[in-house]
Amino acid sequence: MTEPDSNSSSCKVDILIFGGGIAGLWLLNRLHDKGFNVILLEAKAMGSGQSVASQGIIHGGLKYALSGSVSTASNAIASMPAHWRACLDGKGDIDLSRCNLLSEQYFMWSDGSLRSRLKTFLGSKSLRGKIKLLAEDQYPPFFADCTVPGSLYQLPDFVIDTGSLIASLSAPHKDRIFCVEPSDIEFLQDNGHGPDGVRIKKGGRIVDIKFQRSVFAAGEGNLGLMQKAGLDSPAMQVRPLNMVMLRKKHLPLLYLHCIGDSFSLSPVLTLTSHVCKNGDVVWYLGGEIAESGVARNRDQQIRAASELLNKLFPWLNLTDARWECLPINRAEGKAAGQHRPDAAFLQTESRIMVAWPTKFTLSPALAEEVLSALEIQAIVPKFCQPPELLYDMLPTPSLALSPWETLFDHA
Ligand SMILES: Cc1cc2nc3c(=O)[nH]c(=O)nc-3n(C[C@H](O)[C@H](O)[C@H](O)COP(=O)(O)OP(=O)(O)OC[C@H]3O[C@@H](n4cnc5c(N)ncnc54)[C@H](O)[C@@H]3O)c2cc1C
Repeated sequence: MTEPDSNSSSCKVDILIFGGGIAGLWLLNRLHDKGFNVILLEAKAMGSGQSVASQGIIHGGLKYALSGSVSTASNAIASMPAHWRACLDGKGDIDLSRCNLLSEQYFMWSDGSLRSRLKTFLGSKSLRGKIKLLAEDQYPPFFADCTVPGSLYQLPDFVIDTGSLIASLSAPHKDRIFCVEPSDIEFLQDNGHGPDGVRIKKGGRIVDIKFQRSVFAAGEGNLGLMQKAGLDSPAMQVRPLNMVMLRKKHLPLLYLHCIGDSFSLSPVLTLTSHVCKNGDVVWYLGGEIAESGVARNRDQQIRAASELLNKLFPWLNLTDARWECLPINRAEGKAAGQHRPDAAFLQTESRIMVAWPTKFTLSPALAEEVLSALEIQAIVPKFCQPPELLYDMLPTPSLALSPWETLFDHA
């Protein structure tokens, strides 16, 4: 903790955001549009935490319903696909018309053994009309060689290219986004009322940035920020995954959940497809295989994933495939009694708001929550000076590369 230094230069902003993932960047756009003088500090590259490693699925809530947790909060996610669609059409609260869609459609495949249970489940009131059972002549080409009986459903979900989303969200605000090493930052304390600014020390220079409010939207990095700022709550939880990537030329582009035979009906496999710069296709495998895979080492996990694909899609030829694993954590607010949170998380501690979107799909809902909290706290735009002091001191962070571009040996 640092007392203000009379020799340092200083500037004032309304809101200081930490973290240039989807949550922080979405919020930057919304706050800027509302007239707040806002800047964002990113420790590495934009999107470098969970955001570019995510599967890019804009969820409509079925995933929560399948695992048996339909609640008021999980129903909130059902409105998200329409919210994102409006933004992608250039008609929403953020213009995402330059963001690329990977797939307009998302499917759910279940083998024949679950047909009657699924029929009952999907006929329930909360899901009626949202999920469409497809006739065989509507199946994607991949299923033309299908040798196992099953059912294919179309969900309201769709898939976006998270790299182009990060680029779209950051492009209009390059003059407000700065790269800074966490070790170059200290919080300034306001005489026992909690932090009211930060001090950045870099290359012999010192700049103090005073804020009305700061939002911690740094994913797993929120924990370190809270410790530095002297906050002992809220609590964060991480849920680890061991994602698998399968890379091969001429893999079909497939986007689907496969429903397992567990009692909960939750997806045994969640599959998205991503095209690398050299044209190779990567199948990115999440779902139960990635959750249980944290107990397996790389070779065991690749074997388990290969066996699962052979079981689900026996007609698939996996010769020449290259495989990689990506161990990665989901970072979330820890809500009492909830192992799997299903809503965005926001908690205000004096002038600090600590935020996790839980799913990037919920970033618009999280931004709404921050705007409401600011209104309740009577925080209005006050400072209008651009952060000129920072321009020649801190660089603009680059855009993070997707793991399917960096993890494979290109030789
Ligand atoms: C494998 C995987 C797949 C997923 N798939 C989906 C999906 O399909 N759909 C969906 O809705 N959700 C998905 N999620 C969840 C989703 O990715 C996250 O909820 C979301 O990306 C979190 O965004 P964020 O901006 O809060 O955090 P992050 O994306 O983790 O970004 C945090 C940023 O803060 C920066 N940072 C860290 N510490 C500091 C600091 N001290 N100062 C400044 N900056 C700092 C980091 O460098 C990073 O850029 C997935 C998650 C994982 C792990």
